[in-house]
Amino acid sequence: NGLRVLEGLAASGLRSVRFALEVPGLRSITANDFSAKAAALIARNAQHNGVTHLLQASQRDASMLMYEMRGKKDRLLCVTCTDMAVMAGNSGETCYSKYGSVSIKAKYCHEMALRIILHSLDQRAGVYQRYIHPLLCVSVDFYIRVFVRVHTGQAMVKNSASKQVLVYNCVGCGSFHFQRLGKRTTQGTHIKYSAATGPPVGAECEHCGHRHQLGGPIWGEALHDVSFVQKVLSAVSGNPSRFGTARRIEGMLSMVTEELEDVPLYYTVDNLSSTVHCSTPPLLQFRSALLHAGHRVSLSHACKNALKTDAPPRVLWDVMRCWEKSNPVKRDRLSESSPAHHILSTEPILQACFDVREDANPQSRRRHLTRFQENPEPFWGPKARANAGGGGISSDLEDRRKQGQNKRKNQITDATQLKSFPCKRFRKGKCTHGEKCCYSHDLQQTDKME
Ligand SMILES: [Zn+2]
Ligand SMILES: [Zn+2]
Repeated sequence: NGLRVLEGLAASGLRSVRFALEVPGLRSITANDFSAKAAALIARNAQHNGVTHLLQASQRDASMLMYEMRGKKDRLLCVTCTDMAVMAGNSGETCYSKYGSVSIKAKYCHEMALRIILHSLDQRAGVYQRYIHPLLCVSVDFYIRVFVRVHTGQAMVKNSASKQVLVYNCVGCGSFHFQRLGKRTTQGTHIKYSAATGPPVGAECEHCGHRHQLGGPIWGEALHDVSFVQKVLSAVSGNPSRFGTARRIEGMLSMVTEELEDVPLYYTVDNLSSTVHCSTPPLLQFRSALLHAGHRVSLSHACKNALKTDAPPRVLWDVMRCWEKSNPVKRDRLSESSPAHHILSTEPILQACFDVREDANPQSRRRHLTRFQENPEPFWGPKARANAGGGGISSDLEDRRKQGQNKRKNQITDATQLKSFPCKRFRKGKCTHGEKCCYSHDLQQTDKME
């Protein structure tokens, strides 16, 4: 029969036109906007692109339109959120009023934003005896997008509380812990629901002595349905010329399939090392150390230096302590109340091994897929809000922006040029910058070029 598409807040109808032109086998598309001007524009764009047989413009209140379709079962809900400032922790109180979850400022804020919107969707679905099943949730550029199936079933709705978690985030060292909102235990076919017990942390952080912030509740289950993502992936790589962004889709979805499904949020190696004021270990070595210690580890599509792992914070700090022994920090510069002082004055229990393991380097990285895209051109991305008076951005501001743009551009070209020169310190075995070093550590390659 073909799929039917509803775009609730369509503006110019750009996305709906793309659906009509690029997705085969659709039955119909309704592109809706409350503004009369926008609805007229949608109709014109449909005509201009020759898709009026598929695309209907509509000028309704989107919530009424969707409410009228509430009886329909098993639909795919695609939600985009662009209010990243709110979802990434700039105003937790606003985030709570909008999404029923408190956001906190942390390195993992992009994944937390995905889990906040999923929490909100599942909570609202529950009111109608429905529950969500996320197929794919991605953080891209400056927005997030989630694809979820909505199913009906009173029995499954009872699981909802045990799928949500509160986040305790240490303000000193950034260690985080989870607290489920509900407890679900199974005995054979019998399922028992009870109140969760906690908290998972003491009044002070066991690693650094600081206090915890409370965030959430957020979705604590898997973000993706890996078998679904793999189907999309093989469809895209089987026909790479079909989408202009095929390379990027492939890179990002490959990373998504590698993410640890059952481990919410992540640390970053830069943040761990800046907390103890020591040099940053190369990502590969750090990942290897966790694998040697018997833990699982993965990257995240949502952040370049992310470290997703089932290793508890205690193990992460032990690895950092071992790293610090060969890359010592000047102790007299550390204040006694600092997290670094607290962490480094404890002896590690674990003897970390930093020998690089083959499996520490994920497939998507080895295959050099386009995993994170640089901004394609200057001034790309969201612009300043349009001026109510109709005037443009003041020329003074424009000038300053131009200066800023050039500055960054020059830096990037310089750094990439340096990368073709061998690192002299690395040759002597003394470079501590690891992957972040601006010179090349691939000596065979650079020697060949010379
Ligand atoms: Zn701490
Ligand atoms: Zn180096």
